Amino acid sequence: MVQESLVEQYIRNIQAALHDISKSPHCSPMYWEWLSDAAHRPLSITEANNFLLGCILDFRASAQDTWENCVFFIEEILGSPKNVFAIIAEYTEAEWETEFNAYGLHPELPVHMRVHQISRRIMRLYKGDGRLLWELEPATPREVFKRLTMLGFTKTGATMVIGALKDERYLFGSFDLVADALVTRVVNRVLTGTDTLLSADEVIHAGRYLHQADPWMLDRPFSSLARMACRKKAECTACPLADICVYANEYPFSGDDIMMVVLGTITHQKSLSDWFWKEEEK
Ligand code: SF4
Repeated sequence: MVQESLVEQYIRNIQAALHDISKSPHCSPMYWEWLSDAAHRPLSITEANNFLLGCILDFRASAQDTWENCVFFIEEILGSPKNVFAIIAEYTEAEWETEFNAYGLHPELPVHMRVHQISRRIMRLYKGDGRLLWELEPATPREVFKRLTMLGFTKTGATMVIGALKDERYLFGSFDLVADALVTRVVNRVLTGTDTLLSADEVIHAGRYLHQADPWMLDRPFSSLARMACRKKAECTACPLADICVYANEYPFSGDDIMMVVLGTITHQKSLSDWFWKEEEK
């Protein structure tokens, strides 16, 4: 019992630190190509589809290269078409495959092919207008997630699209963390004290536990930590969590004890996020 209250105190300390990080200059807003520049005005089909193409490609590759490749492809190779998906969908599958090396959109062929598959489905199911994915009613994050994954987006990709739309206020409502490599690495270390990889589902559940009101709010603090100190080789002395994190400190409980609390009481735990974040979101 004493142990469980120590674990709960540990989690509260982590929540408080994440909240502080979210307010610090380390946590500057993310820039989303084609979305952020629109500054909340209605998006054109061109902007929406270009953004979606970048999100399909932003998968296990260097994020910066991905988006730069995407801009180059759209602007220099295709000459800034009005509807990038219409152009891609005109290729046969075999023709698109032969362009894998020439276009260099992504290092993995299956991702290159996914671009073609999703382009065709958007043309067929949404008349080529990617905006409908989040503008059709019911326009909830859960519904948008379903539409995106049915088109062929990975769960991580779909969650990223939703997070970006939420950031830029084209979509409203709570949604999950993106269980990408950066977020997963920090969540692992902070909650297990090891580098053992948690599954994407466990990361998502951890996010729901740590910030019940809107787990996506933790995406930026976790990503910032991953870039700032929680790199492949952890630089704990340079980290704002240095005095708290179970990875860098001795505690009378283990990562298993923490995960038992985090995964075992997802729906019942009163979270500090209610006190820290809710007021600010009103
Ligand atoms: S203290 Fe170390 S392991 Fe923990 S979040 Fe910071 S860098 Fe990562």
